[in-house]
Amino acid sequence: MAVGRVVPPSDVRSLTVLGATGSVGRSTLDLVSHHSDGFAIEALTAQSNVAALAELARQHRAKVAVIGDESLRGELEERLAGTGIACAAGAEALVEAAVRPVDCVMAAIVGAAGLKPTFAAARQGRRVALANKECLVSAGEVFMQTVHDAGTDLVPVDSEHSAAFQAIAGTDPDSIERIVLTASGGPFRTASREVLANATPEQASKHPNWSMGPKITIDSATLMNKGLELIEAFHLFPVRADQLAVVVHPQSIVHCLVEFTDGSVLAQLANPDMRTPIALSLAWPRRMHAPTQRLDLVQIGTLSFEEPDEDRFPALRLAREALLLGGTAGAVLNAANELAVDGFLARRIRFLEIAALVEDVLTQAERTGLVREAANLADVLAADEAARAMARGLLKRYG
Ligand code: NAD
Ligand code: MG
Repeated sequence: MAVGRVVPPSDVRSLTVLGATGSVGRSTLDLVSHHSDGFAIEALTAQSNVAALAELARQHRAKVAVIGDESLRGELEERLAGTGIACAAGAEALVEAAVRPVDCVMAAIVGAAGLKPTFAAARQGRRVALANKECLVSAGEVFMQTVHDAGTDLVPVDSEHSAAFQAIAGTDPDSIERIVLTASGGPFRTASREVLANATPEQASKHPNWSMGPKITIDSATLMNKGLELIEAFHLFPVRADQLAVVVHPQSIVHCLVEFTDGSVLAQLANPDMRTPIALSLAWPRRMHAPTQRLDLVQIGTLSFEEPDEDRFPALRLAREALLLGGTAGAVLNAANELAVDGFLARRIRFLEIAALVEDVLTQAERTGLVREAANLADVLAADEAARAMARGLLKRYG
């Protein structure tokens, strides 16, 4: 693999990675290892994979390693004995890791579990490279207000939003007509309803183009991931909900298209490798080398686009509904979906029941007043918890 020029790639010199053992976390550290003189690693965190965390902390000479699961504190200390790397454990320690002084925090914890540490990082007013989409889905308004109040330099990592961020940079917001997010369509793009009804976790876990963590891979199969991304885009960019669209693009080469009032459409293209948007999030407004395979359009030959099928993939419609409801609806949608995906992976519910359960929870939440204004993070976390309890109750009717 080519090694990049060892020049300071950006103003980001010190970095904390929340969720270091995950797919985005590891891609971040892989990228950093190609710029060995460029970055100092402050803190690395993980929830339960203590062996991988200790290994990454040693390899990257982190100052601190934090394991979310308290019961693993002793094992982490043992594994890092004699290295000089400080160890900490527990949910509070994750938040403390997020506020250590650094130039950038890579927020790559999966799920609503990432809310508290990512909010804590955002309150510091430095750069947050945002992979954790749940901050925007569950707490969009509150999160963006926090970012605004603290003067945080927020750079999206999700590839579609990284693409839109680049296309929009420096443009007058009024000149944006539409943002079109691309979706691969996932492993079931052409599958019949019957095939979907019997889809197994193994089949749903085989993404055609991207290599990602287990949760987002299932979300890509239901298209809920694209729904979550519509909500992300709404909070990140100066557009109304009706200016956001989704198009299926099976090759995952064009990541987003931004249409402007003069008829221009700017798209960002790259091979599907998260190290490209991660590099942008660390180096912006500069660029840094990423050791990815270069795009060869002649070899790819064809880029195709299709309308998404919301009958087979109702998750897209549900996310739109949550976006229009606003307030705590995003937190309810996300919590119900997290629970439903866990239920599917544990074979308690079937593939099509993921969206069905989310819809049931959203409907019940609306009826019972759980969908309401969210003034702060506490309101969001309370809605998240209540929606999980609701989903657990409804789950019993399935399977
Ligand atoms: P992953 O499952 O591979 O890794 C998740 C990381 O979070 C791990 O380090 C894990 O230890 C940590 N974690 C899990 N539960 C935790 C908890 N309760 N408390 C603290 N830490 C916890 O996930 P991923 O695919 O890397 O995704 C991370 C985030 O980035 C998600 O929000 C995802 O939607 C988003 N994202 C990922 C990709 C991708 O290519 N993987 C692309 C776009 C956006
Ligand atoms: Mg994405």
